Amino acid sequence: MKTLVKNGTIITSTNEFKADILIENEKISMIGNDLSVGCDKVIDAEGKYVLPGGVDNHSHFEALNTDGVTTNAGYDTTWVALKGGTTTIVDFCTNEPGMNLMDSVDYRLNVRSKGKLAPDMAMHACCTDYTEETLDEIPKLVEFGIPTMKLFLAYKPTPLYMDDYKLLKCLKKAGECGMTMMVHAENPDVLDVERNAMAEKGCLAPKYHYMTRPPYGEAEAVSRAIRFADATDCPLCVVHVSCIEAAQVIQEARAKGSLVIGETCPHYLVLDKHKMDDPDFDQACRWVCSPALRDKEDQEYLWKCLNHDWISIVGSDNSSIPLYQKHWGEEDFRAIPNGCPGAGDRLNALWTYGVEKGKITKQKLVDIYATLPAKLNGIFPQKGAIDIGSDGDLVIFDPEYKGTITVESNPTGIEYNVFEGMEQIGRADTVLLRGEVVVENGEYLDKPVFGRFVPGKPYGLAYELKK
Ligand SMILES: [Zn+2]
Repeated sequence: MKTLVKNGTIITSTNEFKADILIENEKISMIGNDLSVGCDKVIDAEGKYVLPGGVDNHSHFEALNTDGVTTNAGYDTTWVALKGGTTTIVDFCTNEPGMNLMDSVDYRLNVRSKGKLAPDMAMHACCTDYTEETLDEIPKLVEFGIPTMKLFLAYKPTPLYMDDYKLLKCLKKAGECGMTMMVHAENPDVLDVERNAMAEKGCLAPKYHYMTRPPYGEAEAVSRAIRFADATDCPLCVVHVSCIEAAQVIQEARAKGSLVIGETCPHYLVLDKHKMDDPDFDQACRWVCSPALRDKEDQEYLWKCLNHDWISIVGSDNSSIPLYQKHWGEEDFRAIPNGCPGAGDRLNALWTYGVEKGKITKQKLVDIYATLPAKLNGIFPQKGAIDIGSDGDLVIFDPEYKGTITVESNPTGIEYNVFEGMEQIGRADTVLLRGEVVVENGEYLDKPVFGRFVPGKPYGLAYELKK
């Protein structure tokens, strides 16, 4: 199967040029001008940009709630990522109840996602049930192709919570085998003190969620994790950085040579906390995620961080929680499951509110949405690049498109989209996954299930910071 993409303007993380791209047997085989070879399919990209397919460093599909039974939307909804220009998701594998991590990975790949996955998928392990065996599993995960693991420094007293003892033990082991440790950084005691005090006063509406997750609680946990990572020489990725205080900790650490990579998310770049002020619970609950949405000034600072490479990656933190589950917290904001959908809106948000507003360049967009996340996960240059030998994952992007985001135009797999009503400029017009057209005229073609597991190599992006 040979597919030729003609006349497009190619954008990479460092360049912009007009050329044709030939994809043969799933891989890019030629890049050049006026390629004319016998092809099965020719796509004319005149007037459009050609970007590498997006790599989403942070998605949760069919993630278990803390009850270990109910989940957010499953892998049968992963096509929303493809429609929005993401051809590889990096999904989290938590411990299945009673299972170690390796068995949980097997269960997620061969049971939960089997026959449902639309984009390709790499994986982060996510320890949610630490035992002494966990440390022995770290090299096994790396060998299997999972060179990253996330630890929750919040959510005390659930089994998700990792105290300093566990964090330190995992960092020591991970640093020895080329694994990058990731942290959800919020100080759990700060949260408990603030949340319980608010609840005791009878303040139980969704808006109290953001009032009780203060930036200092996030910054403290980021700072502690970096100090531990420095001491153990283990590279770190701080996921979903939401505020100025936490970003500044990373900025200072990088200036001092710490091996730390920051990630933020579209909702922290374009939405603010006042969404949760809506007196209608059914509206306000949709924006409850952790860390909480912050202020306009935080958004501006995060864009600045991306430009200075103080924060290097934009992941969606997609967690499509249906409204009936959000309503579990109708009487008490502490019971609202945390998470926002967004797997399909990462590219749209970065283009409309970044490139179009002059906040980032097109090259920067490609870097933070595809290239650097691929490097962090050890799947570059197979993913995240337009190069000879890379997978034929391309987004043919129409910069002329103008629309308003609705859940119909930008589906999430559930009843709502947190960017509903916002302006959108540009969209993924055609998307190719390993040379196969999966999105055409902005619509997902509903192919038979097509995604594959992509094993990652150890010693990813954060190790490159070592001098
Ligand atoms: Zn997450």
